[in-house]
Amino acid sequence: MRQRCEAGSVAIRFPEVASIIMKMTYNQKGAISILRTFHFTPSSYAFFTVNCLRKDCVDGGFDLTQVINTMIRNRKVDAKGALSCKGTDSPTSHSDIVYEVSIQYT
Ligand SMILES: [Zn+2]
Repeated sequence: MRQRCEAGSVAIRFPEVASIIMKMTYNQKGAISILRTFHFTPSSYAFFTVNCLRKDCVDGGFDLTQVINTMIRNRKVDAKGALSCKGTDSPTSHSDIVYEVSIQYT
């Protein structure tokens, strides 16, 4: 929560952004895929790290901060990619996401 507050709002960090939609398919070994959607408005915190859903995950999660910063800098409206969980509890990657980000500008 503290991290979120320190990130500031989307309106302050990125005044040119009207909305950000992050869609991701979360894949975990031995579980069915889950589609997760996150919608950011100017009043949302500019905090683009999504937690891993694996119960025992340590320090995991998916950080899309760099992806979104780069998109906004280049005024890109969409991007796709994949990330692996950076959790340190498991030697092999236990979960990953395939993401799609769409950004609307004012
Ligand atoms: Zn994890």
